[in-house]
Amino acid sequence: MSKGKLFVISGASGVGKSTVLSRVMDTRKDLIFSVSATTREPRSGEVNGVNYYFVTRKVFEEMIARGEFLEYDEHNDVIYGTPAGQVNEKLERGNVILDVDPNGAFNVRKARPDATLIFIMPPSWEVLENRLRGRGDTTAEQIEKRLNRAKWEMDQRFQYDYVVTNDQVDTCADEILKIIAEKAD
Ligand code: ADP
Ligand code: 5GP
Repeated sequence: MSKGKLFVISGASGVGKSTVLSRVMDTRKDLIFSVSATTREPRSGEVNGVNYYFVTRKVFEEMIARGEFLEYDEHNDVIYGTPAGQVNEKLERGNVILDVDPNGAFNVRKARPDATLIFIMPPSWEVLENRLRGRGDTTAEQIEKRLNRAKWEMDQRFQYDYVVTNDQVDTCADEILKIIAEKAD
């Protein structure tokens, strides 16, 4: 038995996952973020090894071949994956949070049925679009792809254990903290 519990957060691109999670993790210092590997370019302010491990497609494919991922998925022309060794090592130390898409979430659930899956919804479609466009770091083409995928992603919410809405960051973070406290403490 590992020491910690696994929490999976999903939500459409731009809904505010990173923003809310950073608030959650500021409040509960015991939570450990699982750093995914990705082939996407870093956004301004993103740090290698903190937000993601930024790797080339060749390196990513070598990692897949070596069986290093708990799960991985390609969407919006980018591959993202959760390194298994890292998650296991972090679970020995405490509660771990993953930010992955619905395919990743369901694969994690298969591998770790005890994981808690939480889906973040926007208050409305317009707000989601404004947040994604307002971030100002995603090309118009990528925004369209992400919005097209968002509809499918939000339809998956019924398969999650919990659905929360990110209207106000603090309120949404508090709801997630309450779920974590129920499951982990
Ligand atoms: P994600 O990680 O889901 O792609 P981000 O955390 O990058 O989303 O948030 C997308 C944009 O929306 C950012 O500019 C962020 O500052 C803003 N944002 C996030 N949550 C809220 C909120 N509750 N109210 C207003 N703006 C928000
Ligand atoms: P972004 O490029 O905006 O950081 O992330 C885009 C999408 O990829 C989000 O839905 C995010 O949850 C998902 N994602 C990030 N890391 C992983 C991962 O390791 N595995 C999977 N399956 N999805 C991920």
